[in-house]
Amino acid sequence: MSSQSPGGRILVVEDEESISQPFAEALRRAGFEAVVTGTAAGALELTDSEDPDLVMLDLALPDGDGRDVCRELRRRSDVPIVMLTARGTEMDKIVGLELGADDYVVKPFSAAEVISRIRAVLRRSAPRENGDGPALEPITIRELELDPAARIARLRGEELELSRKEFDLLAALMRNAGHVIKREDLMSEVWDTNWFGSTKTLDVHIGWLRRKLDDDPADPTYIETVRGVGFRFAAPEDGEPDR
Ligand code: CA
Repeated sequence: MSSQSPGGRILVVEDEESISQPFAEALRRAGFEAVVTGTAAGALELTDSEDPDLVMLDLALPDGDGRDVCRELRRRSDVPIVMLTARGTEMDKIVGLELGADDYVVKPFSAAEVISRIRAVLRRSAPRENGDGPALEPITIRELELDPAARIARLRGEELELSRKEFDLLAALMRNAGHVIKREDLMSEVWDTNWFGSTKTLDVHIGWLRRKLDDDPADPTYIETVRGVGFRFAAPEDGEPDR
């Protein structure tokens, strides 16, 4: 956490004051520091100057599109981003996630629910203590190397460009290589468990990972779909009799 307040500093980017003001109050009561802006320009400026621990970002801003802001913030930093959408369509959700948002909230929302989601996102993005959380030893499977400590993955020696969620998903799969992981377990390990109770997000991210790994779902080298259950990542010894 970069701020002094125990909960962390949250930047709320929302032009509707009837939403941002009560929400900022609720954040403060919950122990967070809240910084509010109603514009895309303010979002970029305050992310630089205030160094927030998390950004709540409205999709429709008077001077720009929240998706452009999200893309720009991602270029500049790893700050967790929660998108605010009005009456979310599947398209908005997917686009938000593709741009690197960590979660999204559909308006109107309850402050209590959103604050618990914010806490979950912050927990997930916090650096893990030693002995608490997944192991940090590098893992190599076939031509794929994963270095969890450095957060680098390489395929045939080439570094893969993975979003944070893609990396976390790959790490979860590789840590369980050779075993089937249930969809719900992957969701709860990589996302907040109460992610709308849907696992569509998981399929979308699995699809992106497969593309980056050149993995054919019909004849997978790495990620095998176990229908109705989950996924199984290839064990190091799979298909390598001479090892
Ligand atoms: Ca708006």
